Order: sequence, then C-alpha cells, then structure tokens
Amino acid sequence: MTHADHDLSSILDECAQEAQKLIGQGHVADYIPALARINPDQFGMAVCGVDGTEFTVGQSDTSFSIQSISKVFTLALALQSPGAASVWERVGREPSGNAFNSLVQLESERGLPRNPFINAGAIVVTDVITSHFVSPVLQILSLVRKYANCDDIYIDEEVADSEEESGHRNAAIAHLLKSQGNLVADVDDTLAAYYRQCSIAMTCRDVARAFLPLAAAGQHPLTGQTLMPALRAKRINSLLLTCGLYDGVGNFAYRVGIPAKSGVGGGIAAVIPGHYSICVWSPELDELGNSLAGTRALEVFSHETNLSVF
Ligand code: GLU
Repeated sequence: MTHADHDLSSILDECAQEAQKLIGQGHVADYIPALARINPDQFGMAVCGVDGTEFTVGQSDTSFSIQSISKVFTLALALQSPGAASVWERVGREPSGNAFNSLVQLESERGLPRNPFINAGAIVVTDVITSHFVSPVLQILSLVRKYANCDDIYIDEEVADSEEESGHRNAAIAHLLKSQGNLVADVDDTLAAYYRQCSIAMTCRDVARAFLPLAAAGQHPLTGQTLMPALRAKRINSLLLTCGLYDGVGNFAYRVGIPAKSGVGGGIAAVIPGHYSICVWSPELDELGNSLAGTRALEVFSHETNLSVF
C-alpha cells in the first residue's frame, strides 16, 4: 500500500494524536531566555507534495526558531557561491558521533569539522558565505525566502542577541577554527551571521515549502524555478540522512527512515525524495536535542504512509 491509498489528512491527525502523548516528557531548550520561555504544549506539522498539494495539522502556521535547520539553507547557499569549490576541502561528510557543539573532535582532527551540520562545520559553511558576500545575512535570508516562496520570513533579533550573548562555545569553536587555519573572515563577522541564521523564524508550512526543492530533485513545484541541480539535492539529502539529527541520527534512521534536519527550537524538516517535504514542530526535546513529539510524528507518518527511503 502506498500513500496514494491513504487520506493524508487522517494520517496527519493520527501523527498529531500520537505525538501529543509525549508532550510533557521532554525539555525545551533553555540556553537562552527566548527559547526557555516557549510554551512546551505546542505541536504543528505541514506536508508539501511535489505535486503542489499541502496538508497541515495543529499549529502549522505558528512561527518558531529554526535554529540548526538553517544549516541546510546555508549549505545550499555556500554550494552555489563563488566559494563552492572550497566547501568540501574545509568540511567533511561523516557523522560525528559527538555532541553537535563538541570542541574535542575539532581539536583532535586538526580543524576539519566532520560534517556541515555540527556547529563547527556549519560555522565554516557560514564563513564561506561571509567571506564571499558583502551582506551575508541578507544573502541567507533571501535564499530562505526564495525557497519558502515567502517574503515575510524574518530574523528574530531578540533570539539573535541572546545567541550572541550566550554563544561562548560557538565563539570557542570559531576561534579554534581560526587558529587552525579554517576560518577566512573575521571571527566576529562569521559568528554574527551564524547567530542570525539560527534566529530565523518560520512556520511549519514555510519550512516544508522551503524543503520542497530537496524532495523535487532541485525544482520548486510552487514557483517552477530550478533551485539546484538534481545531483546536489540528492547529495544534500544523503547528508541529512547520515548527519542531520545530531548524535541521534542512527536511531532516527532506524525509527523513521527519512532524511531530516532538526533544530533545538523543536523543528524537524524531513524529505521523502520524489514525494514530500515535511516539517514538524514541538518545542520539547529529547536528551540529544531532537524534538520528542516531532520524531514520533514522523515515525507514525512513515509507518502509516509506508514511505521512507528504504
Ligand atoms: N544556536 C544553536 C547553537 O549554535 C543552534 C543549535 C541547534 O539547533 O543545533 O548552539
């Protein structure tokens, strides 16, 4: 049985019901006040089909902080920038098996971050952008708006300021990278851009739409534009599968079987190539930093539709 045999609306209702059962069992991110005070009792999900269809449930139009989901957009931007050729010389493509903000691995591996989705790798990717564009933050925002087909997407400056104030570990990573010769721009400029990309606010509907090009081989079904070559979409999806869920990536692949990227704001963006892009959001996280209810919702979705990459 495939998704075509199902009514996706009723499947989304089931995802929401199953996900709600976990609310109260995780913890919202509390490293900055703007995230710590989020009402944990929230859940939203949006599914966009490559044929242009959309299905939503819950708070799919409530904005949340996309945090590390932004790392997918900056990778897409760096790979089409004048600095593209340097990206894979400066960042690896292997799962890290370490915390997303680890300094130890960076030190022992002499400044070559394992992948673009841990903080060290994402900071290098943002550095590629910062060192090649006069207005890196505007470039990032404009790519996100184009991918989401929405000009209202904004940076939450309160979140960005708190990220900056509490960003000692990211600053340590950036300085370590600089000392190891893997940061080109001024450390503060790269970090400022990094904090702002993390602070982009989007809804589940926006994020799902923005991930459609990864589901549709680089095409955007809503605008008809080609946003990246099909091969690049395939490769980014492969990186999501192997590196997109912090140190919980193996368990997520086992349970859900779909490439995805999570953020500590509680969002998870997922891609079923050739079929759907999905965004689920619920702020409470598990011990590895992935949305607890969101992971469950995606697990139910893949079971009920019989869709995964396997
Ligand atoms: N702003 C967070 C950090 O850099 C992002 C964390 C995340 O979503 O993984 O620590």
